[in-house]
This record gives sequence, structure tokens and C-alpha cells, in this order.
Amino acid sequence: MQPRDTCTRLIQKSGFVNYSISTNKNDYLSNYSDRDKKWDNHANNRDALSCRLFDIGNDRGNNELLKYSEKIDSCALTLQYKPQTNMQTGEVTIKLKKAFFCKKRTCPLCSWRRSMKNFWLIFTRIKEAVEKDKLVPLFLTLTVPNVEVDNLRDKSKDMTRAWNNLMKRKELKSIKGWVKTTEITYSQKYKNAHPHFHVILLVSSTYFKCDEYIKRDRWLQLWQQATNDPSITQVDIRRVKPRIENIDGKKVLDIYNNSTLPTNDGLMNAVLEVSKYATKSSDLLACDDNFLVGYINQIKGLRFIATGGALKDAMKEEHDNLINLNDDEDEDGEEEDDLITFNYIRPIHKYKRSRPTVSVSP
Ligand SMILES: [Zn+2]
Repeated sequence: MQPRDTCTRLIQKSGFVNYSISTNKNDYLSNYSDRDKKWDNHANNRDALSCRLFDIGNDRGNNELLKYSEKIDSCALTLQYKPQTNMQTGEVTIKLKKAFFCKKRTCPLCSWRRSMKNFWLIFTRIKEAVEKDKLVPLFLTLTVPNVEVDNLRDKSKDMTRAWNNLMKRKELKSIKGWVKTTEITYSQKYKNAHPHFHVILLVSSTYFKCDEYIKRDRWLQLWQQATNDPSITQVDIRRVKPRIENIDGKKVLDIYNNSTLPTNDGLMNAVLEVSKYATKSSDLLACDDNFLVGYINQIKGLRFIATGGALKDAMKEEHDNLINLNDDEDEDGEEEDDLITFNYIRPIHKYKRSRPTVSVSP
């Protein structure tokens, strides 16, 4: 990642320079749990991206970009948590209660939180459909040829139209529900964009035995027809093998927050794939300046996640709340005094606990 010290802004505007290294392990958010460790990494990416945007905005005299960078720069600098004790195990954990999120589409921190939120909403619904309605999940990937960044917006709209046409086909009536996301990867080689869809489809359990079954080559034909582009060669369809019987909701979210993901749960991996960020932060940090600026302009207002059929309402819940990710009960009447605060300390790239200053009488 680009070190923050290279950012011109740091020279112009220094913030958070007063800090001290603490030997108390509880002073650093990263020491609380594997999940909390991730904050530092994503905050470092936030800084790297906001610095890059600031430098580009400065070079080009682009005020809009400077404002955009400032917004990302201010994202989640302070986090306030409530300590919670598990009544059964006695284990004490902390739960995020207050933070300001910039909600910019490219912000690495907001993208991370949003993808966790999406994961939670989608996983819960699909798990229910699989367990109660006995539907079977399939994982479909649909690609189109790479496009220059300035054509990304038009291409995304074309792809959405093509998808809608595809879903109208009688041949696909066995699909009972779907969730579709757009992923855009950056091609280092061609300096352009590779947009594609990841889709989880739900079909009935008889799908594989009846004449409604659609082979991979037929999917390719259908997608070529829907896009009116016979040059497309990459389509992938596979069955998702869930092993969700032993996984309760909270565990799932914890697993997702960890860096080590289970490789044996097909459903979880499929949902991870559809809930991740539209474009990885690492791509946005590695792409060239023109791509980055073009990308920000092109994706404005575009929706990258859509659902249909039995999953139609899966994303209806308010998913812009990036504080509470998994709908668990919020205790009422909590006092502000109960909250513990962590501030992001830029020179050490860590969230550090803020402790009240105790004044000592002489
Ligand atoms: Zn943000």
C-alpha cells in the first residue's frame, strides 16, 4: 500500500500528531479480536486512497476530487464501542455503537462494512430458502469483454438490460430466486475494466433430473443472445454445496470477519463472492490515475446488487446502516458513559483507545 507519509496533504495539514506508544495491549483495537484487527488494514487503505485522490485532485486542480478525498479521509476516525458480556460464557466482547461513515462508493472502509452487511442479509435469506423451501443454490458467472473505463457506465446498463432479457426466457422458469452483483476488476495489462456478474440462483431440487436442467454451453448461448455479443466465451455455472447445518448466524459473521475462511462451505463462499465490494480496494490503489478518476465518475448512481424471485426482498432492509451489521437486538437505555472510544492514530496506523486524562493534584 502507498505509505501515508508520501501524501502531499500530510505536509500541508498535519493531524493526529500527538500520540504515545502504549504497552497496554487493551489500548489497541487490533488486540481485541480477529475481527477488530481488520479495522487497521482497512483504515490504512482508506488513507492511501484519500491521499491518492488528493494528490490527483491537486495536480489537476479538480475541486470535486479534493472534496471527495476529504470525505473519505474523515471516515470512521473515531469508533465507539459498548462492552458486552456473554451471560453463558462470561466472555467480554465489544460491539460498535457509534461511528461516522463517509458512505462513498470507493471508500475501502465503507466498502468493507457494506459487504459484511450484504453478506449477512443474503446469507440469512438463502440459508432459509435452502433449509425451509429445499431450494438448491447454483453459482453463475457471466462475463463480457473488457471495456475502457469511459464506457463502463454504458456497458453496465447494457449488462443489466441483457440480464433482464435473460430472466424473461421461459426456459429459465425453474429459477425460483436470484441475487446478482456486478464486480469490476482492473486489468493491469490493458489498463481497462473487466465487468462481470456473479449470481446465486435458487432452483427446485428436481431441477437436475428434469428437462429444465441447463448445461454450461446452453448458458453461454443464452448469454450471448441476451447481450447480442457472440464473442463472449466465459460463462461458468456450478452447483453450490452448502454445509450450513452446524453454523449459527453469529458464528457466520465472525467467520466472515476472520481472514481464514472455511473452504468447505460452498454456500458461504458463494455468498462471499456476491457480497464483496464491486471493485477491490487493492485494484483502486493499483490502477492508473485516469482509470481511478474515470471509475469514480462512471459508477455514480449505478446499482451493483439486485435480487429477484424468492429473494426479491432480501436487500430491502435498510442496508446503509454500517454500524449494526447483523440485526441483533439493540439494548435500550445505554449510557454514553458506557462507551469506550478508539481514535485512529495516523502515525502508527492503528486505532488506539482514548482514556480520560486523570488530573493529579500536586
Ligand atoms: Zn467511508
